[in-house]
Amino acid sequence: MRDASDTRQMEFLLSLRRRGIGDQSVLRAMDDIPRDRFVELEHTEIAYADQALPIACGQTISQPFVVAYMTEQLRLRPHHRVLEIGTGSGYQAAVLSRLAREVVSVERYRTLAEHARERLRAVGANNIEVITGDGMEGVPGRVAFDRIIVTAAAEAVPQTLIGQLADDGGVMLLPLGPHGGPQRIVRLTKTKDGVAQEELIAVRFVPLLPGRAREL
Ligand code: SAH
Repeated sequence: MRDASDTRQMEFLLSLRRRGIGDQSVLRAMDDIPRDRFVELEHTEIAYADQALPIACGQTISQPFVVAYMTEQLRLRPHHRVLEIGTGSGYQAAVLSRLAREVVSVERYRTLAEHARERLRAVGANNIEVITGDGMEGVPGRVAFDRIIVTAAAEAVPQTLIGQLADDGGVMLLPLGPHGGPQRIVRLTKTKDGVAQEELIAVRFVPLLPGRAREL
């Protein structure tokens, strides 16, 4: 028996495919993670629409296509250790956790970090560590990350994060551009010879801001 939520889920996956997401493991992860658990209660009904939605602290949960796209472009392998900057709702982290060994996610709002931890526990994503702090500083003192994904727009590449990226093919993805202006997803690939930069799709993200949030 197929009910309304199955149909909605099929349409959700179909719309991602139509927009060019072809990686089966990414589609499976998107299928696995219930987005309706990561949006605000009043948005449950439109959780699977392809749009960003407001969450607490004036932030947003990214549009599903952008989550799928960035996940695909990260080229994850199951043994990877991933750093995410900008936990927000925890949705992107949950998707990453299905495809990588371990995810560390940093959020500057304590409230968002706490809520994300609860949701992630509820969906059984237990290979994610959520940290409250300034993600622009990364997570110093750890082994270098295989992948870094920034989900807030930076006006310049945060060099500290490059320093925490594995130097044998580490990949970092971030929205780059002026706050509130035209931004592009940029992919940086780090090798012993230097850092290569590729420009990908145009996007609009909330700003990456320095420091921990003063408010909760
Ligand atoms: N990945 C999120 C979308 C987050 S929106 C999701 O799937 O829901 C961007 C988030 O980045 C916001 O929650 C914002 O508070 C956070 N942020 C902005 N600057 C930051 C910084 N320097 N360190 C950590 N988090 C930051």
